[in-house]
Amino acid sequence: MDPREQAYDDQLRAATREQLRMIEARVRAHPEGSAHGDGHPHPWVEALGDWWEAELRAGRVRTCRHLHPSTPQPMHGCAWMPGLLACSMCVALGAFNVTGPADRICDRCSLDTLEVGIYNGAAMLGPVSIEYGVCPDCYREIKGSIEAQQGGRQ
Ligand SMILES: [Zn+2]
Ligand SMILES: [Zn+2]
Repeated sequence: MDPREQAYDDQLRAATREQLRMIEARVRAHPEGSAHGDGHPHPWVEALGDWWEAELRAGRVRTCRHLHPSTPQPMHGCAWMPGLLACSMCVALGAFNVTGPADRICDRCSLDTLEVGIYNGAAMLGPVSIEYGVCPDCYREIKGSIEAQQGGRQ
């Protein structure tokens, strides 16, 4: 591997590590949250990841002006704004914030979670995390399938 490729590779790995660290920190802050970097996610989460991967490969994803393909860094997308990636700073500044009822809609079944609360999780694609918000029923189903698979590996 030539030095430029090596440097890119190191940056990519660092960005992926940083992304995982941030997700873990967020999950610790919200004990009900779920996070999973690899393994066998729920089919819905997998389909979400597949969609993003296809969009990325096809070059159809828009990014904030801080992201550049030659300098890997943690990138964030979300299920409720398909096709947009933003850097950590833009996310902190509210790039993915939505207001009103849209903020409460389950990304999986479109239920308005006003009465029941919304749960957050993320699908990981290397240095890219795709966040989603789901209703308690969808959350239990997603979490249940992840735990069943994790249990099966032990
Ligand atoms: Zn940005
Ligand atoms: Zn739902």
